[in-house]
Amino acid sequence: MSDYHFPYKDASFLINHVLDFDRMCEAAGLEDMNGEMACAILEEAARIGSEVFAPLNVVGDKFPARLEADGVHETPGFAGAYRQYADNGWAALNADEEYGGQAMPRLLGAVTTEIWYSGCTALFLCPLLTTGAVEALQAHGTEELKRTYLPDMVSGNWTATMCLTEPQAGSDLAAVACRAVPQGDHYLLSGQKIYITWGDHQMTENIIHIVLARLPDAPAGVKGISLFLVPKFLLDENGRPGKRNDVYCVGIEHKLGIHGSPTCTLNFGDNGGAVAYLVGQPNQGLMAMFTMMNEARQGVGIQGLSVSERSYQQAAAFARERLQGTRSDGSRYPIIEFPDVRRMLMLMRAATEAMRGLAYVAGLETDRAHYAKDPDAQRKHAARVGLYTPIVKGWLTELAQEVTYLGIQVHGGMGYIEETGSAQFYRDARIMTIYEGTTGIQALDLAGRKTLGDKGEALQVLLDEISASAESMSGVASLAVMAEALQRAVDGAAQARAWLLENGSRDRNAVGAASVNFMLLMGYLCGGWIMGRAAHKARQMLDTGAGDEAFLRAKLTTAQFYFEHLLPRTGACLAAVRAGSASMMALAAEQF
Ligand SMILES: Cc1cc2nc3c(=O)[nH]c(=O)nc-3n(C[C@H](O)[C@H](O)[C@H](O)COP(=O)(O)OP(=O)(O)OC[C@H]3O[C@@H](n4cnc5c(N)ncnc54)[C@H](O)[C@@H]3O)c2cc1C
Repeated sequence: MSDYHFPYKDASFLINHVLDFDRMCEAAGLEDMNGEMACAILEEAARIGSEVFAPLNVVGDKFPARLEADGVHETPGFAGAYRQYADNGWAALNADEEYGGQAMPRLLGAVTTEIWYSGCTALFLCPLLTTGAVEALQAHGTEELKRTYLPDMVSGNWTATMCLTEPQAGSDLAAVACRAVPQGDHYLLSGQKIYITWGDHQMTENIIHIVLARLPDAPAGVKGISLFLVPKFLLDENGRPGKRNDVYCVGIEHKLGIHGSPTCTLNFGDNGGAVAYLVGQPNQGLMAMFTMMNEARQGVGIQGLSVSERSYQQAAAFARERLQGTRSDGSRYPIIEFPDVRRMLMLMRAATEAMRGLAYVAGLETDRAHYAKDPDAQRKHAARVGLYTPIVKGWLTELAQEVTYLGIQVHGGMGYIEETGSAQFYRDARIMTIYEGTTGIQALDLAGRKTLGDKGEALQVLLDEISASAESMSGVASLAVMAEALQRAVDGAAQARAWLLENGSRDRNAVGAASVNFMLLMGYLCGGWIMGRAAHKARQMLDTGAGDEAFLRAKLTTAQFYFEHLLPRTGACLAAVRAGSASMMALAAEQF
């Protein structure tokens, strides 16, 4: 089993040289923050990630949470690590200062999230949902709800869940049936939620469930869904957890991966009704829940990055050691010398670095939207975050399937055997394209709401920006081939955009048929954009003798590999987009 170390050099290169983090901090008036300071904070996170969390990854896999008479008991060791995380202030990193948060830039949140998930994905699903719940409550809760619940959620004293799914309501939340009936100053909520991540555990003294349900007079469909806060323990007159509320875990799922994360069936109101408080306006619950989901969607995208990084590190270590070649003098050499093993390792490496770049770009854009001083700039940055979110969630998690698959392949038979840990990364990665909205749902969001919704305007601004980067790269002789390839990929994306705008309203199935390939095209393109910018910066630094030469040369080589082996996939995606829905929809359902 290989150790995990956070790729600090890559992260600090992106933050300090590629992303203009310092300029964002200056523009936002963040006097106490800059790239150097961010990197100092990351060093400490990286230490905890490798020393405290990484060893727990396999423990969670082998010793999953158990449901007992008094509720769910999490994997041994998780509670101590979680406490260390919360006590050291990591849970409060991005929250508002008013509730005890540190109001740090979102980019730092994205980078530390990568560390926590690489350390132990199953454990860090718990704080992911708490962070999302804090965002939703900050944005939509009443002053009283915020005052009462946020400080303990922000500090990590209490964790939170996100309760959307019901047996008949998965992707289609219009079918949500849980009911909430007014009762004085609160509501009584009843019904069942399934697949609730970290729905119960013993790590903290309270759990705050954020739940979608319907009021008695609610209209049918998504316009009749409201959002509620349901604490596991009701608060006493001092604001501390007291009487048990009527919400219980009645089962936990046995599943392919993330064994350490309890996936719970929660029954609300079996004994008369769970006390619930309305968050936001009646019947506007889905909109409020989206605040939480957008945060969580980028977080799940980062899970794809994290598991890929860990799978890559282990595969590279194995490939350096495993002897399978024999020289003419009889001496043996390791598999890392075979071109095909190099192909796999380079693909894993290039994909992971591109994922990291895009995740950080999206984190920084979230900061730009958050700190924007005038409404126009705020709208512009928010629209860009809107575009990035389904790409980060959809593309990073899809690519993580390939990276973790290759991680096993590099190991040969040993990869299929559980002891190496490579199989766990593959199993853990599999859920990431499913929860927080499947790949199909992310792609529909990108092609429909985010592209057709504004007639492709925000997308065009992004394509123009990528084009400008290609133009600027073309001025450097050694990057001219990359610049041309990047511009070709932008042209492809522009054609896909035009195809969607033209066919989206004409053919009922066109958007659904094209959307996943469109989303993947945008992912490979954005990945190429950030790798191209990184290569450009690396070239400039090498030319001026600044920075770590070995790192910068490796960056250039990895970018070249990305441009030769991954960026060309945009062409295949475009062809599939343009094929439309004809062959997809031609067979009758009985013929399948
Ligand atoms: C381990 C785990 C943890 C989870 N954690 C949580 C949690 O904490 N909270 C919570 O509320 N839920 C949670 N979920 C539920 C998860 O979000 C849902 O499983 C997911 O949204 C998909 O819903 P579904 O399973 O009902 O699949 P379905 O919606 O039945 O989808 C089946 C297939 O149909 C496709 N499909 C469905 N609708 C469309 C459409 N309109 N267009 C195109 N394709 C479509 C999907 O892409 C998918 O391929 C979790 C699930 C798992 C397995």
